[in-house]
Amino acid sequence: MRPSPLDPLFAEVTSLPGVGPRMRLLFDRLIGEPGKSARVLDLLFHLPHGAVDRRARPTVAEAVPGEIVTLTVRVASHHPSPPGRSRAPYRVVVEDETGDVTLVFFNADRRRLDKLLPIGEERFVSGKIELWDGRRQMVHPDRVVDAAGLADMPVVEPTYGLTEGLTARYVNRIARAALARVPELPEWQKESWLARNDFPDFRTALERLHAPQDMAAFAPDSAARRRLAYDELLATQLALALLRKSLRRAPGRENVGDGRLVARLREVLPFALTGSQEQAVADIRRDLAAPQRMLRLLQGDVGSGKTAVALMAMASAVEAGRQAAMMAPTEILARQHFERLAPLAEAAGLRLGLLTGRDKGAERRRTLAALADGGLDIVVGTHALFQEDVAFHDLGLAVVDEQHRFGVHQRFALGAKGAAVDVLVMTATPIPRTLVLTYFGDMDVSVLKEKPAGRKPIDTRTVPLERLDEVVGATGRAIRGGARVYWVCPLVAESETLDVAAAEERYASLVSVFGSEAVGLLHGKMPGREKDAVMARFAAGDLKILVATTVIEVGVDVPEATVMVIEHAERFGLAQLHQLRGRIGRGAAASTCLLLYKAPPGPVAEARLRIMRETEDGFRIAEEDLKLRGEGEILGTRQSGAPDFRLVRTETDADLIAAARDDARLVIERDPRLAGPRGEALKLLLYLFERDEAIRLLRAG
Ligand code: ADP
Ligand code: MG
Repeated sequence: MRPSPLDPLFAEVTSLPGVGPRMRLLFDRLIGEPGKSARVLDLLFHLPHGAVDRRARPTVAEAVPGEIVTLTVRVASHHPSPPGRSRAPYRVVVEDETGDVTLVFFNADRRRLDKLLPIGEERFVSGKIELWDGRRQMVHPDRVVDAAGLADMPVVEPTYGLTEGLTARYVNRIARAALARVPELPEWQKESWLARNDFPDFRTALERLHAPQDMAAFAPDSAARRRLAYDELLATQLALALLRKSLRRAPGRENVGDGRLVARLREVLPFALTGSQEQAVADIRRDLAAPQRMLRLLQGDVGSGKTAVALMAMASAVEAGRQAAMMAPTEILARQHFERLAPLAEAAGLRLGLLTGRDKGAERRRTLAALADGGLDIVVGTHALFQEDVAFHDLGLAVVDEQHRFGVHQRFALGAKGAAVDVLVMTATPIPRTLVLTYFGDMDVSVLKEKPAGRKPIDTRTVPLERLDEVVGATGRAIRGGARVYWVCPLVAESETLDVAAAEERYASLVSVFGSEAVGLLHGKMPGREKDAVMARFAAGDLKILVATTVIEVGVDVPEATVMVIEHAERFGLAQLHQLRGRIGRGAAASTCLLLYKAPPGPVAEARLRIMRETEDGFRIAEEDLKLRGEGEILGTRQSGAPDFRLVRTETDADLIAAARDDARLVIERDPRLAGPRGEALKLLLYLFERDEAIRLLRAG
């Protein structure tokens, strides 16, 4: 149970004065987790990215053109637009003893301006001063207030990431109200560490950002922001350390047998494992045999053959008399894994099942019963696997595929389905070393460095969208030559304003050229069974062209597909382009990737397209991506369920990661139950950053 002093922070934003139902929807869109309402805490963690400094209070004569100033003036005269020329601006001249300034308003409402700037009265106007025809002017002052208004006006005004309908001024007003809800909290950081870094306390840090008195907090290395980033890092590292400890603490079970099933699999696999795959299998079998829980990350670029390694690992657990489960992030992937593995499993004598959210009724009951009584050795599925009513006879190994699609909690939820379950998480996202540390703590890592032999390099070309006709022509030639083609369109989703080639339109136009027997359509809004049917027809070769949104991004494996067309490639991130392209180049035949872009691409898009042409190396792409995008977006976006940070910026806070890890380790050594005074405060920190699953582990142990 969350300690009650934190409750006001977890209340919905509507608990703050000035947030009604309409604004609540906007806040939900801006800062709410998908499907959840925005809370006070979400608003506090929605840090401003900068601020407008209104502290400069020069006289009119001293005001420097181009700068933001707040002037103390008297209103001298009004000059409405001349009759019949309503497009001409409304001017108001204001002055002090050193000179005058013309305030310029377009589309002015005369009555409002009369009220706002009564002749002869003192007013405070804030905005950017400019020179026009040698005269000082201010176009649409940001603020015009009287003495009372000045007292309320923030002199340093934070700017925020916004959504349509929300202004920075309003968000700031509500954020200040949220600050007042931050309770007095005990310090969870070490005093010596705070002193060394000149870090303020948690609440002061938030205040310096949302209610700033100066601009210091907005520097990239500001103590206020870094203090908060460090809080988040420590919460994460602490949760990981607790998790790791609890997983390791369980007395080990030898989840590896005599090698009989693994040997059988080698015979039935249509290929020999690569050296990297062999190494990974050996690492895993050693972990499985050890008297501790395994917690291993298998990293391998797209197409490097992680599934085969997973199968070997699962067979090892089955040899030891246990069950194994593999969880995939999407229905399509789970089914694909099932279909791929089924013939191999059968040949090797492994009993394989499938469980997804779509399975219902009698079929589901049969699968559940077989899992519970040991009638199945291996189950493949989606997150339906860790639902409450799923019980295993004796789960020994949990494999989580494409883990970056899962939240931090989900990733390990499957491991809780048995006693001392070994855990293998697999990712195709090449993660630079510092980030591995951040997201996984001290997890053991195996890397698939090489791709299976015989793969040909993918010929990647960039083509302006105007040459779409030629691309359609080339597609025709390719499918007549027996090729299968992915045609990817960006998701239309929320951005109706963007000129996006909708997948449906493209589908229709390709059908009109190639006929409806040859072209299929796949997008996320389709019912699951339809998706499966389309995927199956494409995999079988009935369909030659698959028009799809990015639903095919992760894991889809049709080795016969050799052409990929990506429309509006300039809209995709590098990691995403790399994932998409990874769908081809999986068989022995040469593959081609055409990146269609709207000319001229911006500088970042251009750099991305160039990198895509230059390399297929996922690690290089990830590094370039980090450089281009800065933020740790490399692990995907919030929408994709990535373990996202709210306050940490990997490019400026990387140095804090190791410190947080060491600190967390020390804490756990000295006070494993977080029972001491700092431990109690650290529990609050875990709740604040919603790493409280770790607190359950404390109790369980
Ligand atoms: P990913 O690592 O992206 O999940 P997959 O496991 O889907 O990759 O494997 C990609 C393709 O490579 C599959 O068609 C798989 O059968 C094939 N493959 C895997 N290992 C080898 C190997 N050692 N030799 C040849 N092909 C392989
Ligand atoms: Mg895969």
